Amino acid sequence: MHRSANLSKIKDNQEKIWDIAIIGGGSSGFGVALDALSRGLSVVLLEKSDFAKGTSSRSTKLLHGGVRYLAQGDVFLVLEALKERGRLLENAPHLTYNQPFIIPIYTWFDRLQYSVGLKLYDLMAGKWRLGKSKFISKTETVRRMPQIKQEGLKGGVVYHDGQFDDARMIIALAQTCDELGGCVLNYSKVESLTKDTNGKVDGLNFIDQLDGSHLQIKARMVVNATGVFADKILKMDNPDARKSIQPSQGIHLVFDQSFLGGKDALMIPKTSDGRVLFAVPWHGKLVVGTTDTLKDKPQLEPEALEKEIDFVLETAQAYLTKKPTKADILSVFAGLRPLAAPKEDGAKTKEISRTHKVILSDSKLVTLTGGKWTTFRKMGEDTVEYFPRVSGKNMSESKSATQKLHGFTIKPDEGHMAIYGSDAFQIRFMLKEHPEWREKLHPKYPYTIAEVIWIIRNEMAVKLEDVLSRRFRILLLDARAAMEMAPKVAEIMARDLGMDQNWIEDELKEFKKTANKYIIKP
Ligand SMILES: Cc1cc2nc3c(=O)[nH]c(=O)nc-3n(C[C@H](O)[C@H](O)[C@H](O)COP(=O)(O)OP(=O)(O)OC[C@H]3O[C@@H](n4cnc5c(N)ncnc54)[C@H](O)[C@@H]3O)c2cc1C
Repeated sequence: MHRSANLSKIKDNQEKIWDIAIIGGGSSGFGVALDALSRGLSVVLLEKSDFAKGTSSRSTKLLHGGVRYLAQGDVFLVLEALKERGRLLENAPHLTYNQPFIIPIYTWFDRLQYSVGLKLYDLMAGKWRLGKSKFISKTETVRRMPQIKQEGLKGGVVYHDGQFDDARMIIALAQTCDELGGCVLNYSKVESLTKDTNGKVDGLNFIDQLDGSHLQIKARMVVNATGVFADKILKMDNPDARKSIQPSQGIHLVFDQSFLGGKDALMIPKTSDGRVLFAVPWHGKLVVGTTDTLKDKPQLEPEALEKEIDFVLETAQAYLTKKPTKADILSVFAGLRPLAAPKEDGAKTKEISRTHKVILSDSKLVTLTGGKWTTFRKMGEDTVEYFPRVSGKNMSESKSATQKLHGFTIKPDEGHMAIYGSDAFQIRFMLKEHPEWREKLHPKYPYTIAEVIWIIRNEMAVKLEDVLSRRFRILLLDARAAMEMAPKVAEIMARDLGMDQNWIEDELKEFKKTANKYIIKP
């Protein structure tokens, strides 16, 4: 997957009319791209920053039906998500896991309520079920989650959901789309839409953020998959467009895994503000979240609020015996949910349905909003279904449900190289050919020089943050370690990309500014 080669496909072929042009390189955009390519359509996807820079790298990392949505009676959404969860576990085993969760039980009513609810969840998953839910004794609960609060504990209900690496999944999707003949480009910002003489959208103008050149694309269908930024594109089409998105912020705190102990995830079904809190093991750390805070404006790098940090910390402290403090926070990251704006004012965000919506504008611009990471493929399929209506052309059946993703292997590596899937073999070969590339980038972490070179040459990473945040996930796992690794990584990148000392200094300055938002000063 090479940026310059993909850019040339556009520059050298300005007359080409693409079937679908997608704006946005998050899970929604790639869901559309994957489905369209599986039907043999030609696809170009443009992302203004790096792939997954937005919400899609900032999730709780769950592939789930959503126990909470079941409690809210959103049966259709849960059924759909459980099916998609199963498919993704099959299509990308190197990036997904079957993760057991334990709900600690402190009252007998809760035991009844969650045992019955989760049996229903099992039933709804049908053939995609990942394991049977069951009640376990207090002793077993404490054995599996050594740090859980024991006072009043009656036992636990175990159930299964999927877990994954969200940004790495986007990279695998980008590579898959590239291999299927799609043209995917990061650092390409769409600035305006073009229309034909009948006022129908027939393309777009974008700027290459790296060299500043302005380019145009003609397409039979243009899809707006920009998450919380969807209204900006809708306004490019129609300056009077009604607000369709309500951003809602969720944050996560990352701790050492020893704060929970064991390999199971903790699920608190009802926090003091009536929401759900997860503490999920991830790449050897513990990710705890989340919150639901309304935001006025979309942002690419949102920041956790003090009150959100306090809320997550206090809730975690209430359920854990080894109590985490601010000083124990390794990283804090925030993301914005692209919720559909409620028609009436005052509707609570936790009550806004997570079901996705496809909007067809009078100009034939197609906008995909809402939804969940888990259902990205189905969201894409539902969007591509509009193609015949918008373009007047036929298309083949979707094959995205069984499309194996780049790196697919049934035997992924153990440890941190698992995320590369079948590519790990080639990285190991590089390590053999160049023993000097075995050097580690940080004494506490296993990442090597070889991986940085692999990432630059094969995963379209252009900036320091692309490597440290979305190829390695170290910025989210341990922000201070990410800062410490930065100079070395910048130097390797500059050498391989042919950049000079000024580039290194600029990258380090920019990365430091971003990374500071992930660090909590005591
Ligand atoms: C805190 C939190 C936790 C979550 N946890 C889960 C979970 O565990 N499981 C789950 O299933 N779902 C979860 N979700 C939901 C899920 O993460 C989102 O629904 C999903 O990532 C949204 O993806 P998206 O592609 O619509 O938006 P984004 O990922 O934000 O992608 C939109 C992209 O469009 C780009 N863009 C914007 N304007 C332009 C332009 N002019 N030109 C080019 N590109 C542009 C942006 O840069 C951005 O990268 C969570 C959400 C949040 C906030």
